[in-house]
Amino acid sequence: MKNTLRLHVLLVFLLILSACATVKNQMNDSDFMAQNQPVRELKILVASDGSHTRDQIDQFLQECSEIFREQVGITFIPLKYIWIQWENRDVIPMLEELARSTEGYEFDLAIGFTRWTTGELLTRNLVGAWEGCIDDTYRRYIVVKHLDKRTLLHEVGHAFIFSHAHSNSGLMMPVSFQIVPFIPIKFESIYLSSEDRIEVLKNKGRQFAQIPMIASREHVLAKTTRSRPSPLWPEIR
Ligand SMILES: [Zn+2]
Repeated sequence: MKNTLRLHVLLVFLLILSACATVKNQMNDSDFMAQNQPVRELKILVASDGSHTRDQIDQFLQECSEIFREQVGITFIPLKYIWIQWENRDVIPMLEELARSTEGYEFDLAIGFTRWTTGELLTRNLVGAWEGCIDDTYRRYIVVKHLDKRTLLHEVGHAFIFSHAHSNSGLMMPVSFQIVPFIPIKFESIYLSSEDRIEVLKNKGRQFAQIPMIASREHVLAKTTRSRPSPLWPEIR
């Protein structure tokens, strides 16, 4: 038991250390700010099942955009809002649903918003569960299960980092696990490590309709994905 406790303390300590090794303290440096120019505006297609109001999503995207603009000069501009319904809530079916529903619309990144079901929330609080995902074909379809800035920014990071999946520090550390059931302990950073930031800057101008070269692919979209465009989301404020 004592050894287990020591292991937990060590793990927590390592997590804190890893979360600290980021660009957080460099952001006021003039060279750093110059490297972020010119700013790239990402055209965002928002797909929602109605879990959150449009105001909530807009506010959330605005906050995420500001965090990314400071680090890499990338901003998020929500262009269109569409409805989406999820038939199956596993990773690949949700990503394929998003790809089908957004067919024919013009955008850089498509973000599908939903919220945890009661069962998912229970699983997540007990052992942890996925909070967000991105496809490994185009790296442009993202689904998030809650309005958590780190979750979305981590997935957007994957849209610009292809040489590796995850890192030992900062935003691109693997998604956290539940240390103690029902007690949310998080040491996650919203800041990129210096190395990851360099790669994001390198790929900042990528064209999203093109399939990038990725080190390894896990969540690949089926080639036969049928187009099934969703209707626009009328303004509900
Ligand atoms: Zn990841």
